[in-house]
Parts: sequence; structure tokens; C-alpha cells
Amino acid sequence: MYKNQQPSWSLSKHRMLMECELKWVLNYYVAKWGETNSKSITLQLAWRLKHLKNMYMLFGELMHQIIESEIKTLLETGEVLSEAKIKKLLRDMLNRNYSQTKYGLNLWYKEPRVNPMIFEIYYGGNLDKTLIQIIAKKIDECVSGFIQSKTINEVIAKRNVKIVEAEKYKSFYLDGVRVVLSADLVYLDQNNDIYGIVDWKSGKRSKDDSLQLTTYALYLEKTYGADLSDIELSNEYLEEGINKNYTVDTYDFENLKSIIQASSKRMTELEENLRYPDDKILSTFQKTENERVCEWCNFKAICSDELRNTHMNNFLKDKGRKH
Ligand code: SF4
Repeated sequence: MYKNQQPSWSLSKHRMLMECELKWVLNYYVAKWGETNSKSITLQLAWRLKHLKNMYMLFGELMHQIIESEIKTLLETGEVLSEAKIKKLLRDMLNRNYSQTKYGLNLWYKEPRVNPMIFEIYYGGNLDKTLIQIIAKKIDECVSGFIQSKTINEVIAKRNVKIVEAEKYKSFYLDGVRVVLSADLVYLDQNNDIYGIVDWKSGKRSKDDSLQLTTYALYLEKTYGADLSDIELSNEYLEEGINKNYTVDTYDFENLKSIIQASSKRMTELEENLRYPDDKILSTFQKTENERVCEWCNFKAICSDELRNTHMNNFLKDKGRKH
């Protein structure tokens, strides 16, 4: 039986809710229940599907890991960044994920948290040539963008900054709602007590980018008592090689607060449906009518009438082999 939890909100959770309520409940609640073999085969497959990553997500995740470690090394040792070394590392990591995915369907079925599965391979059998070319171009452009970024060359190299926190996930409370965020780089300029937050973007610009930075600013204000005039917020669009600074004002704060309030209220209402028996829950959530969202949805294997039988049978066949 589902028990009410303390309301928690994040921008990614909100975005997914706006895309599709069914996808949201699968991703943030129901898929987790399928971790155990006592649950229905649909939920067990949903648990695996939750861990699929498409090539753009995988690229972004690996790029962020490398950036984090390179900045740490740069600050600790002063070692100059090597563009060639980072590009090679990124290519090697992507190739490793590709090989593990291509020949590791049964391992992914067994433990999806440690064995990768690439969305395009799971649903399409392989990566097409155009996608491979796009990713190769992204490696070149994003790594160059990082090396030449304003954050590296004008903030880290020239100013007296220290990294404020090591933990990736941070949170603060707003009217009883726990707001969770994951900021890439939080620093303090020790010469003038200015706080800065940088978000590295390996994809295109989005209409939510400024909302994300406003969440960060609110976090700095609530957690460190930072004044709005002492906060620097920037997005580094790596592919374009552009740094964009944002200034947040009280109107942005009020706008964000009302979004969080309305969105977390809707989430709490929808959570009530989790009290239904497992086999009824999914039918109580709205499906999107936006085909583009479905095309890229991890859960289409259990949601789409055309795909369900094949994917369930493949999974069952694999389970049969082991028992
Ligand atoms: S496939 Fe479409 S309708 Fe189904 S959960 Fe995903 S986004 Fe929603």
C-alpha cells in the first residue's frame, strides 16, 4: 500500500508531469516497485525501461562526469586541460557503453542499474549512421566549448574561487515542499563574496533554462542567505560555445514559487491514485497525445499496443532461460 510521502519537487519531475502523467507516475513511482520478482511482469519490465538512456542523454551524462572531474583536478593541481585527452576519454566511454549494450541485453534484464542499455539499440537494434555522425560532432564541439568556456578561462583561471559543495543533489524547503536540484558547479568568489552557479549544457537551449537558474538562485538565497545582487548565474552552451548570464529578480522568484506550488499540488492529487491495486493504477493516469513525446519515451514498450507483446515475450523468454 502506498504511503503519503513528504512532497518533493524538481524541475525534471515537473517537466515530465507536463509531458505525460502516465510517464511521470511510471518513472517516479511505479517502475521502482518492479525491482522485485514478486511484482507483475509489466512492473518488472518497467523497472528495466526506467534505466534506458538515449544517446543524447548518455552523451550529456558522460560529458558532465568528465567536466566535474577535470575541474576538480584543475583546482587541486593546476594541471592544464587537454582537449585531445578529454575527447578520447569521452569516445572510449561511449564505445564501452555501446559494446556493453549491444551484447548485454540479458545482463540489463538482470540488473539494469549497473548494466547499460541504449534506448536506440533497445528499440531499433542499432545506432544509425546519422546519429553516430551527430554524436561525433557533439564530442568535438562540446569539448572545445568546455576548454574555451568563459567559466574555465575567466572564472576558474583568473579569480579566487572555491567550490562550495561536493554533493551533486541539493535541496531546500519552500512552503513545506522539498525542492530538489542538481547544480553542476557552485562556487564562491573569495575576494568579493559573490556566489556563482554554472550549468553546462551539452544540448540545445530550452525555454526552461532560465527557470532552472532561478531555482538555483532561490537555493543560494535560502541556504546561504545570498543576496540577489551577489549571485552570478550562467549557462555554458557547449555546442555553440556561448556563455549566457542571467539576472534574476523578485518577479522571477514569485513566478517560480507559483509554478512549484501549482505543480506540487497536482503531484499530491495524483499520488492519491497510487492507493489503487497495482493492476489498476496505470489506467488511472492520463496518456499524452503528443506522438513525439511517445516516440522518445522509455516506457513505450509497455504502453504501446503495437510493441507490448514483443517486448513482454522477449523479457519472459529471458526469465524462462534462467529459471
Ligand atoms: S508512451 Fe506516450 S503515453 Fe505512454 S507513458 Fe510514454 S509518453 Fe506517456
